[in-house]
Amino acid sequence: MRHLCILGSTGSIGENTLDVVRQHPDQFCIASLSANTQIEKLAVQCIEFKPSIAVVSTLDLANQLRNLIGSTKTTVLHGPDGLLEAVRLSQVDTVMAAIVGAAGLLPTLEAAKLGKRILLANKEALVMSGELMINLVRKTGAELLPIDSEHNAIFQCLPQKEIGQDSTQQHLAVKELLLTASGGPFLHRDLSSFQDISPAEACKHPNWAMGRKISVDSATMMNKGLELIEAMWLFDTPPEKIRVVIHPQSIIHSMVRYIDGSIIAQMGAPDMRTPIAYGLGWPNRISSGVRELDFEMLSNLTFHALDDQRFPLLKLARFVAGQGGTAPTIMNAANEIAVAAFLNLQIKFTQINEVVDSVLNTLEISNVENLETILEADKMVRDFTSNYIQRTY
Ligand code: NDP
Repeated sequence: MRHLCILGSTGSIGENTLDVVRQHPDQFCIASLSANTQIEKLAVQCIEFKPSIAVVSTLDLANQLRNLIGSTKTTVLHGPDGLLEAVRLSQVDTVMAAIVGAAGLLPTLEAAKLGKRILLANKEALVMSGELMINLVRKTGAELLPIDSEHNAIFQCLPQKEIGQDSTQQHLAVKELLLTASGGPFLHRDLSSFQDISPAEACKHPNWAMGRKISVDSATMMNKGLELIEAMWLFDTPPEKIRVVIHPQSIIHSMVRYIDGSIIAQMGAPDMRTPIAYGLGWPNRISSGVRELDFEMLSNLTFHALDDQRFPLLKLARFVAGQGGTAPTIMNAANEIAVAAFLNLQIKFTQINEVVDSVLNTLEISNVENLETILEADKMVRDFTSNYIQRTY
């Protein structure tokens, strides 16, 4: 029996994880859950899964949650310390890192510090902490398993080896990693109308049902940029050996090209329960509830190259990947603030790129000495970007 902590259980990944867990009551139980503000949803989850700990963002919400769940065995905590407690719980052996954005960094690092199995959906945490997280995983023997569908696909296409272990042989045989990208909702939209894109349009992904932040990132392709940096760290591969291929149907989730001419691809319906089930069951496979692919429907899989003009943020992320240091943290924080401003109707869709680009051009990049460097840079960039948006738009 594996004991799970789900960070971000009320989100899209969190709910999909609970759906897979629900199908395997003999293999998984829930030790701790967390949400930011959606306490009604969390209360329903607590009543069903009876975790030892549930965490919300504030004391007030914690009191409200206690009232909603009544007398159960669940202890309700709040804030960043509460998230750490949810991870530290001694029975927790597996942590699903599914908080969106930088807020997930510290509890994910805590899971790495404690040598637990980490199912990593929260790509922003790895983009920010990079080498620090990988070194921690190496040191403690934590198991870092990618849940992002592209990275999960690549993980399935590589010889099975835990992330962070010696990968010399693998490197010699791999020619390149091929990250597939659907191109999001605006792959064919007239560029001249990009400035009129509304949050509702940006959040309407053609293939995947996801949270709002990652949906906007998919529409700008910043998501693919974050994934490029994520792949660098997970698979110890330089950015020039990671290529992005547009594949609008999202059936092939990514591929690995080997030196002998073979390309190994992983396919499946676009449903996050497949990579989640793979992470939960690893190294075995368990059922996920995902519909089977019908080959007769697959006669039209297409692939094409990327248009940088349409998606400048991906090009920027590739540059940032090469810069290293605090550059990914700066890009990530500026993007989080810009996306939130777009969703709040403060800036236009096209201004997300403008903001991230200007912030990166203005702020100095430094070496990452330790976690403090990252946290300080993250905070400084958030303040700077918010002010920049207020001043400029
Ligand atoms: P959602 O927005 O649907 O859910 C985010 C979760 O995090 C919610 O439980 C939310 O709580 C919680 N949360 C938000 N902000 C905070 C905060 N400041 N402190 C603590 N908890 C917080 O996001 P997704 O599930 O779509 O994405 C989660 C992560 O997984 C992201 O990093 C994303 O990039 C990654 N990912 C997602 C995929 C998908 O298909 N959705 C695919 C691949 C990766 P509340 O509900 O109360 O707001």
